[in-house]
Amino acid sequence: MAILKFPEFTPEARDFWAKIPTQYQKLILSNVYCTQCCGMVSILDYSGALLDDGGDLLLKGKCAKCGHAVARIVEHD
Ligand SMILES: [Zn+2]
Repeated sequence: MAILKFPEFTPEARDFWAKIPTQYQKLILSNVYCTQCCGMVSILDYSGALLDDGGDLLLKGKCAKCGHAVARIVEHD
């Protein structure tokens, strides 16, 4: 049975994420750098939290290709 994991975001991160256009959200989620694959990959099982300074959003998850941990910072406008 497939288990679907939904993004776990803090309330602040959820607000931040909700303001980003869907088109751009997809772009962000499919362009995360994986150090194992040495290239851009999609992120799976991601969670989101705001960084303390500056209010940037940190996405943490797994590489869709190899499962290695990947992260991406989404800068505040
Ligand atoms: Zn990878």
